Amino acid sequence: MALIKYYGFMDYYEVLTSCTDCYACEEVCPVYGVTELYSPNHKIKIALKLLNAEIPSNEEIEDIYACMRCGACEQRCSQKIQIAEIVRLSRKKIADMGLMPDTHRKIIENIQDKGISLNRERTERNNWIENDNISLNLNAKYVYLTGCFASVMNSNIAKSTAKIFDEANVDFTVLGDKEVCCGVFALDNGMDEVVIESVKKNINVINSIGSKDVIVACPACYKIYARLYNHLVDRYNINVKSIIDVIHYLVDEDRIKIKNSSFLTVSIHKSCNISDDQYNSVIDTIKKIPKVELVNLKNNVCCGAASGVRPKFPAISIEIGSKTLEDATNLGVDILITTCPFCNFQFNDVKKRKKYDIRVADFTEFISELIRS
Ligand code: SF4
Ligand code: SF4
Repeated sequence: MALIKYYGFMDYYEVLTSCTDCYACEEVCPVYGVTELYSPNHKIKIALKLLNAEIPSNEEIEDIYACMRCGACEQRCSQKIQIAEIVRLSRKKIADMGLMPDTHRKIIENIQDKGISLNRERTERNNWIENDNISLNLNAKYVYLTGCFASVMNSNIAKSTAKIFDEANVDFTVLGDKEVCCGVFALDNGMDEVVIESVKKNINVINSIGSKDVIVACPACYKIYARLYNHLVDRYNINVKSIIDVIHYLVDEDRIKIKNSSFLTVSIHKSCNISDDQYNSVIDTIKKIPKVELVNLKNNVCCGAASGVRPKFPAISIEIGSKTLEDATNLGVDILITTCPFCNFQFNDVKKRKKYDIRVADFTEFISELIRS
């Protein structure tokens, strides 16, 4: 089963040659914005060469990997060229030629061999679990998939979510080290077979628990599962929900009692992986909290970490991450609320490196701290 509809040769050629060289995409590309290199437009020219089976130069390979697949360029393109998808297909061709960069190959090996996208051990997924009763509970109604970053890199996100579930009497279980990475990084690199294998492994564990309802912590994981949604529903009768939608529902239904906070101003960072509906759910939830003022960021740009940019181009990644922190700091907000555990990790890291005086909190952390005890 292909996760993505591949273009036929002529369709793809027509897409690539429909570019009018207007360069509007450059104006919004975060990577081009900080480097004046690695233009989205160049990526299309490189894809044309790859289509003709030409071996790319080292500079051209760099160009294809200097991309978070954030999709900002696509929204600007009058020809509606799916540049992020072209990057993905180009990476697949480069990998097939044996030219994938080591940074990327290592992460994919981690996903395949260890079931975790990080240079960490999968058993570390258990470390945040304080109550053994929530592990692999065969009677639980919901399975909470924590993903790599909420369970290992900032496990306070998983702990905060568990606190929210407890408050709202959500009967849930976690898979601990039986959960494997969703494989979104492999999707970014056109390696669908790795994604499908990862999802199958998680489905097998979920099936062994017997639950049909899955809540995912990370919007990238959600994207993977949502893409497979029809397939999952048909074959396994599994329902997949994002933690954002679940929290929105719980606050709406008054199942979480919010305490009076001191006056706070916050901005929300929209992860590239959340939908407009999910973003609106976060806004709607925040607006219901007394004494919290929401201030819109001037520019909502990608955190700068995704799709291998952070390990391969650390300086570029930090510079892009700084844009949002700079924006929020200039707006004078107390907290930058993140909507993705990976973005949260990136902004906390950039904040430390560049000494920004602002708090970064995941949506789950922010809500859990407001629970009346
Ligand atoms: S997907 Fe994002 S990072 Fe990649 S070329 Fe487009 S705007 Fe730039
Ligand atoms: S905006 Fe679209 S048409 Fe214009 S240069 Fe970029 S890819 Fe080509």
